[in-house]
Amino acid sequence: MALTGLDIYKLLPKTNCKKCGRPTCLAFAMQLAQKKANLSDCPDVSEEAKRVLGAASAPPIKLVTVGTGARKVEIGEENVLFRHEEKFYHPTGIAVTIHDDLDDAAFDNRLKKINNLKMSRVGTEIEIDLVAIINKSASAEKFADAAKKVSDGSHLNIILSSTSVDNMKAALANCAEKRPLIHGANAGNCESMAALAKEKNCPMTVTAPTLEELADLAERVKKVGVEEIVLDVSGDKPKEVLQKLTRIRRAALKKNFRALGFPMITFACDDDAFQEISMASTYLVKYAGIVVVNTCESWGIMPLLTVRTNIFTDPQKPIQVEPKLYAVGDAKEDSPVLFTTNFSLTYYTVEGEVEGSRIPAFILSVDTGGTSVLTAYSGDKLNDKVVAKAMADAQVETKVKHRKLIIPGLVAVMSGKLQETLGWEIMVGPREASGLASYLKTVWKP
Ligand code: SF4
Repeated sequence: MALTGLDIYKLLPKTNCKKCGRPTCLAFAMQLAQKKANLSDCPDVSEEAKRVLGAASAPPIKLVTVGTGARKVEIGEENVLFRHEEKFYHPTGIAVTIHDDLDDAAFDNRLKKINNLKMSRVGTEIEIDLVAIINKSASAEKFADAAKKVSDGSHLNIILSSTSVDNMKAALANCAEKRPLIHGANAGNCESMAALAKEKNCPMTVTAPTLEELADLAERVKKVGVEEIVLDVSGDKPKEVLQKLTRIRRAALKKNFRALGFPMITFACDDDAFQEISMASTYLVKYAGIVVVNTCESWGIMPLLTVRTNIFTDPQKPIQVEPKLYAVGDAKEDSPVLFTTNFSLTYYTVEGEVEGSRIPAFILSVDTGGTSVLTAYSGDKLNDKVVAKAMADAQVETKVKHRKLIIPGLVAVMSGKLQETLGWEIMVGPREASGLASYLKTVWKP
């Protein structure tokens, strides 16, 4: 059982010295219980307290790192079941498979395609994280060759998947320095795989049909000396996989059940790419640390990347763009000026539509604390004075000769007051951003 704030308080020095940055030892104890503080923040804690509290304050789900350097994937160390309770910290790693029995040309083509699975969304570049090399050939030589090709020809992290310890050893000889995830340990080979993982300092997975056996395997692997373990929760029936993912997360967080306190991987591979992406999205939301799919088509991967981006944002902090005047295309003094809010999704939707219209324009992103147009208006974060200030701050009147401002159709009600405050002609734009291209082409006149 997790220690309560009072349990922890009894073990602290109780001097209220404030060296930890908290006003009292009790306040520190409460934050420690909620995993919002680190024991190391208190310099005066006794060795005995460190021993007791160190174990109790360890994260309920172990942090596991696959890969090295800036592109490494960190999974685990999550504190909540639902993101609105706090937030999810470590985005699910997305992996695409490549089989080692492909001929050279097919292998190279697929690897090239996998390397290019990236997109730009709300101003950020997002992409997949790992290549899962599957030892389909069952040959050590081919598996090792595939590992070398991926290691040399991809910036992505690696999962090596084989149940053969010898084949795994051969592949590791070609890519161990990239710290791949070793996948394939089961009840029959887990000690040998663990010895390999320990020797190469790599994380590894364990696979078993039931949660009890999974916990047992994790303990066996730990005894060999491997700490970074990932539980493989794959299966043919999505309902059962989802139940397992949820039960493990609950056991780790709610029961503090250390034997299952590890991140999880699931292979959501299916011949039907639509089914595959739908399963992978579900597992990504609850609670896979890594999802592996077969499809390397961008139309399949993009929705998955989008789901991940949405789930792993901080629900307490709207994603915002810098509030300022943006020029889209070669905007000049006779180009239209529009305003929208600085909520990223709103801004980039508007920007995308303006770009698509091929009419250069200025977009004024008004600071509404990252809220959308209607939310900002109803909360009085978007009114004539706020817009006038944003116009003045961005010196819009020095950028264009005309005095016309296009406002979102959703806040047409602002037009009268805004015209009065600004002294500009107010043009009411479309209610939806999708109507902007035709509006700019047919209604706008400088
Ligand atoms: Fe208490 Fe330690 Fe914080 Fe001082 S530093 S107030 S002793 S918890």
